[in-house]
Amino acid sequence: MADCIAAISTPAASGGVSMVRISGKDAVETAAKVFVPVYPVKKVEEMKGYTAAYGNIVSDGKKLDDGVLLVFRAPHSYTGEDTAEITCHGGIHVTRRVLQAVLSAGARMAQAGEFTKLALLNGKMSLTEAEGVIDLINAGNDQLLSCARAQTDGALYRRIETLSDRIATIASEIAVWIDYPDESEDEDEISKADWLKSIAEVKEDIDSLIATYDCGVILRDGISAAIVGKPNAGKSTLMNLLAGVQKSIVTDIEGTTRDIVEDTVQLGDILLRLADCAGIRDTSDTVENIGVQRMIERIDTAQLIIAVFDGSRPLCDDDIRLIGLLHGKTVVPVINKSDLEAVADTEYIAQQLGEPVIISAKSGDGADRLEQAIKKRCGISRLDASAGFLANERQRQCALSAQAAVDRAYNALACGMTADVAGLELEAALSSLYELSGKTASEEVIDRIFSRFCVGK
Ligand code: GDP
Repeated sequence: MADCIAAISTPAASGGVSMVRISGKDAVETAAKVFVPVYPVKKVEEMKGYTAAYGNIVSDGKKLDDGVLLVFRAPHSYTGEDTAEITCHGGIHVTRRVLQAVLSAGARMAQAGEFTKLALLNGKMSLTEAEGVIDLINAGNDQLLSCARAQTDGALYRRIETLSDRIATIASEIAVWIDYPDESEDEDEISKADWLKSIAEVKEDIDSLIATYDCGVILRDGISAAIVGKPNAGKSTLMNLLAGVQKSIVTDIEGTTRDIVEDTVQLGDILLRLADCAGIRDTSDTVENIGVQRMIERIDTAQLIIAVFDGSRPLCDDDIRLIGLLHGKTVVPVINKSDLEAVADTEYIAQQLGEPVIISAKSGDGADRLEQAIKKRCGISRLDASAGFLANERQRQCALSAQAAVDRAYNALACGMTADVAGLELEAALSSLYELSGKTASEEVIDRIFSRFCVGK
């Protein structure tokens, strides 16, 4: 059996071309058994890295297809090993036959994510960069793509390295102090004050790193948002404006939205899972009352509430009641019907819920301002992916344990415990950060990460 792995790296679907990737010490020799170059006419084994050949793909002496062979030489390849990539015509059956030929030539079938795992083990990328690869493949919009790109470029890795270096510096100063304590009590106090200051700064950085996680989740999974307001404020019109299609029933008869109409809307880079709720008002209609009740429940569960007020009318009791329900929630207040004379008390809404966005749902005027306001409220506009951010739950758990250890180190020093206790906690924080970046991640953690990959990546 040859020392190499192989898999189809393109999707299992018909297309223009498909590619079978082989990686390992014997990758090129294995490719030579199934690929006969036509141009340039030379032995596959003699091909240098970054060179290509056109030729025939053969199995048991029979031609399967013609295609292109690309050769990469270690360490200048994705996996860091010798790699051969055979590109053939993109039929599902022909590609499988090419893979079979490669496996018959001695390669072992690659497991899910094994090429990227090799890249990790061969030092071609860090664990967080490898995790970025899967996010890159799954990225569904531009912002997710640039986030994933930042991860694969090592943004988080560098941020963790900087943090770890700072913690290691404080830990080593404490270690030196343990061996050679300061001569006077005054000097002792100065050292302690310095360490407390440095630990507090590190803690702040970890806190802001952890805060990036929520932005990542919102970018990936979207955010559940409820559109609420009194009847006729223009909720359905706004929903339709955002959704770009007529989903909710728009009439000027109060109470036309009796239940919750849901839709998923791509607002710039954010996916909004929108619910247009029944208008809030006291009503004797039983069906409408159930709708109002559901809206109140939605206010409790939605991550974001878009509260719509009719700008062409004075605020009424129902508006005031709604404002009361919204305290403490993440709200984007919207004053609708800007095409009509402004009557509603904008000042009061601003005081109670924050600066409102003034729009006309009917004409679409102000839709871009609403998008910006939603992004700002969700914290997305603050996310600087190139500075590194937490992209998944595994990373978050590691960051949380580092945060807890740094907290304990701070408290130990602040409470007057001996510095070695703080030193031990800083070591614990370091090991959590090393696990995050993959410096010390266990085999089990690595396997779990790569199980999310597809075969061939
Ligand atoms: P909902 O009960 O809150 O869902 O309100 P609708 O969306 O059904 O709208 C109620 C009425 O207000 C309809 O006649 C809409 O055409 C009208 N409307 C909604 N938005 C605007 C707007 O921006 N300007 C004007 N002039 N009318 C609007």
